[in-house]
Amino acid sequence: MASTVAVHDEIKVALPQLKLLINNRWVASASGKTFATINPSTGEEICQVAEADAMDVDLAVQAARQAFEHGPWRKMPASERGRLLLRLADLIESHGNELARLEALDNGKPVSVATAVDVARTVACYRYFGGWADKIHGKTIPIDGDYLCYTRHEPVGVVGQIIPWNFPMLMMAWKLAPALATGNTILLKPAEQTPLSALRIGELILEAGFPEGVVNLLPGFGPTAGAAIARHMDIDKVAFTGSTEVGHLIMEASAKSNLKPVTLELGGKSPNIIFADVDLDEAVEGAHRGLFSNQGQSCCAGSRVFVEETMYEQFVEKSIVRARSRVVGDPFDPRTELGPLVDQSQFDTVMRYVESGRKEGATLACGGERIGSFGYFMQPTVFADVQDTMRIAAEEIFGPVMSIISFKNVDEVIARANHTKYGLAAAVWTRDIKKALAVSNGVRAGTVWVNCYNVMDTRAPFGGFKQSGIGRELGEYGLQQYTQVKSVIAKL
Ligand code: ADP
Repeated sequence: MASTVAVHDEIKVALPQLKLLINNRWVASASGKTFATINPSTGEEICQVAEADAMDVDLAVQAARQAFEHGPWRKMPASERGRLLLRLADLIESHGNELARLEALDNGKPVSVATAVDVARTVACYRYFGGWADKIHGKTIPIDGDYLCYTRHEPVGVVGQIIPWNFPMLMMAWKLAPALATGNTILLKPAEQTPLSALRIGELILEAGFPEGVVNLLPGFGPTAGAAIARHMDIDKVAFTGSTEVGHLIMEASAKSNLKPVTLELGGKSPNIIFADVDLDEAVEGAHRGLFSNQGQSCCAGSRVFVEETMYEQFVEKSIVRARSRVVGDPFDPRTELGPLVDQSQFDTVMRYVESGRKEGATLACGGERIGSFGYFMQPTVFADVQDTMRIAAEEIFGPVMSIISFKNVDEVIARANHTKYGLAAAVWTRDIKKALAVSNGVRAGTVWVNCYNVMDTRAPFGGFKQSGIGRELGEYGLQQYTQVKSVIAKL
């Protein structure tokens, strides 16, 4: 532990190592450069963190390659790899309060949410994949002739992982856990906005006893360290979560370098479709949480709320009341439901969308303003009378801005829901099983929720159709991204 930061008189947050983790050692960056990580509640610097760039990526790749080819990691029994993951899960759980505070400090999310969602799901993810480590195996196949044919599910090798800032430690778990369970070695770049929880988990990785070079952590920026990972000739695979724009760059870099396979979890503009036969209050609350949780900074946020026209007015009225009652404020206050947005740039982007909604003729039903004079707090915002072609209905906002859109019938709403380049998630609310199944089967999205929203579980695969991504994370499907199949054919 390097030092602590006093958030309030009574709350102190311990800071982790602020360096790069390469080959199980904390090191300064090759350039000696550092960058500031900012507290979004105040707009002030929390601390400086070592800034990785291409040279550090090279060093981390060498360490990961050495660990993969010659270290104890691959020779170790799979059950021992699983035990290391379970040990890491236990350590994260026992340091849960401290990690939740670190996340609230660096990301701005309410500490209550960081505890109940981020820490809890992170622990569950390492446990789940820890359990898989010794249950991954191939098949024997009865081919023609006098041969023994069997398949092996082998690790891909050295994996580069690039993660976003909205669920920092959870996205790290989604990436690390399946890759470790399957025996890969890794270099991971946390987002520049939120490096702190990754560094603390790096300390816990060392404490758990992972061998040298298996996990390397490279805080730094996207166009420098991130791009160096994406184009590296000795990285065997890249897994990325972030914007669709950068997803294109990652794939292009792979195509121009060594054709490394990529998994991408990208943006979304998820339709949340509400029929008039539902319990109105339940649907209003479901849609509210589906959009406003995590300050709306969620790739699967239900940001296009389609409401059947016969219930539209009532739904809008109740949604305004609920949005106005959402408690905005200090992430360390247990009553807070909505913290600040992650940084100035995200705040400005969201405000520009609010302005575009106004200009394009949507009704600003509530919110739309900044709160206070420091930090990146904004009012929960609801737009009514939104048309499909408006930017607020077509583009990913990634902020606390709900767009409520009216529809008439099932076929029409499915077609409109699908009229987007994205396909990450969708939801339908109805008591009519036919409508529920028509929408579930008809929407092109990786996850469909029926009468619920944002229900996620480590066992259920998650990922996108269309430009929301390639590949699936979590569950058994998530493991497939980190192994390759080898056929062995032996003459008898
Ligand atoms: P957001 O807009 O939500 O910040 P980004 O896609 O820009 O999403 O960022 C997600 C992650 O991708 C971050 O870790 C960021 O540093 C990284 N990143 C950004 N640009 C690039 C790039 N050109 N190459 C590789 N990684 C990048």
